[in-house]
Amino acid sequence: MRDVKSLQGKYLTDAWRTTERTFPVVEPASGAVLAHAADCAAAEASQAAEVAWEAFLAWRSTSAFARATLLARWHDLILANEEVLATTMAREMGKALKESRGEVRYAAGFVGWYAEEAKRVYGDLFPGQDPDKRLLAVPQPVGPAFGITPWNFPLAMVTRKAAPALAAGCTFVLKPAEQSPLSALLLADLWLEAGGPAGTLQVLPTADPAAVAGPLIADRRVRKLTFTGSTEVGRLLYAQAAASVKRISLELGGHAPSLVFEDADLDVAVAQVMASKFRNAGQTCVCANRVYVHRSLVDEFAARYTAAAERLVVGDPLDPATDIGPLVDEQAVAKVERHVADAVAGGARVTTGGKAAGGLYYPPTVLTDVAPDALMLREETFGPVAPIVAFDSDAEAVRLANDTEYGLAAYVYTRDLARAFRVSEALEYGIVGVNDGVPSAPYAPFGGVKQSGIGREGGPWGIEEYLSVKYVSLGLGPA
Ligand code: NAD
Repeated sequence: MRDVKSLQGKYLTDAWRTTERTFPVVEPASGAVLAHAADCAAAEASQAAEVAWEAFLAWRSTSAFARATLLARWHDLILANEEVLATTMAREMGKALKESRGEVRYAAGFVGWYAEEAKRVYGDLFPGQDPDKRLLAVPQPVGPAFGITPWNFPLAMVTRKAAPALAAGCTFVLKPAEQSPLSALLLADLWLEAGGPAGTLQVLPTADPAAVAGPLIADRRVRKLTFTGSTEVGRLLYAQAAASVKRISLELGGHAPSLVFEDADLDVAVAQVMASKFRNAGQTCVCANRVYVHRSLVDEFAARYTAAAERLVVGDPLDPATDIGPLVDEQAVAKVERHVADAVAGGARVTTGGKAAGGLYYPPTVLTDVAPDALMLREETFGPVAPIVAFDSDAEAVRLANDTEYGLAAYVYTRDLARAFRVSEALEYGIVGVNDGVPSAPYAPFGGVKQSGIGREGGPWGIEEYLSVKYVSLGLGPA
């Protein structure tokens, strides 16, 4: 099964199955229906919990080396299928093809990294007071895990969860976003082709997320909930997971500040704030959402940044020349329009863009003189809009940056090492990029503080989320 049409109506539990009810997956670029996806509901979710538990009983007893071999094969197959994965993603959620190809490699990166890490889940033999006891701390898989992912990274948000889960010996049930179920189904098909045992990775597309999530979160055999998405939904799921005291990971919204200090290398700052802001048309949780620039540089920065934004190519996501594709849906465009209109009403000046370009397209937009109470300085915009605001001192920059309930990523541009340390330590964020607008990597810890989430994904931190430590105290008896 390697094309979109063959995925119609399909979901995966211990085998490919079909639902009678389906929902349309619509291409943001054209409004055309790309495919009709399976519309799973409570019955399929309960069945998935059963399958996940049964499969877990066998999967947890496989050797780490066997799991590593399967993950390594999955990694190779994902890379070998880059073109179909990238074009499916570009079509179902509008990501420009060159970025979609990059995401395929990024997604494979998690699988490759955790293929290796599976073999390095070590326990401890540690000292105690009694000479006739031996004390062990043994890491074990937490159990079946349930993951819910967003549409903005249809592959990488899945592998960032599923790869460490499978490496640790957990089985994994995925509910992909309704905008991007096809990429997730292709990934699961490749897992089967790699030799992944039936039931270890399941995918349940649905148009009604609560109907599928409810039974899986309530089920006591499902021991872990991992969610990436908005803070609003994360809060709801956190409360639901409390009833069965599940292990929880939440990767939630962001509202990233970029701080450009007076000693910054302007070439670096402009290029990195561009990359950070306009990746995926501004639809990433770590996107620079607010750009604070020292007053001495603000005019020059704004001029150079505006010129760079004007060079971006807006167009069909399948055209390899395109930098910015359409936004994901009408609500996304409406939110960007609302934020821009609000800023302009408050006195902001639009230096480029500022008007929807037809369909779901919105051009790269830069604003200056944005009032402190503007919506775009308070909420996640999730679109290609960069508000530039002047500051006068380091203390003011840090205060503005921290003045939010979010705490995912922040960026600092400076050539002064002491300032880089002081400011990054003062920022209440889980990730700080210093002269680096794109810090995410499969081997690094990704996650937020405050209302941006709980837990970390990536690197050795990411697999800890799927392990619990069993303490074994072994009495040796008389010698
Ligand atoms: P969303 O919260 O609306 O949806 C995310 C997922 O949750 C989807 O699969 C959706 O179907 C599901 N969902 C929605 N309501 C649900 C419910 N009641 N019960 C169970 N599941 C439900 O978010 P979105 O609009 O798809 O994604 C954008 C958001 O995700 C942004 O806030 C962005 O910052 C955040 N995000 C965070 C990270 C991160 O790593 N921190 C990464 C990507 C996106």
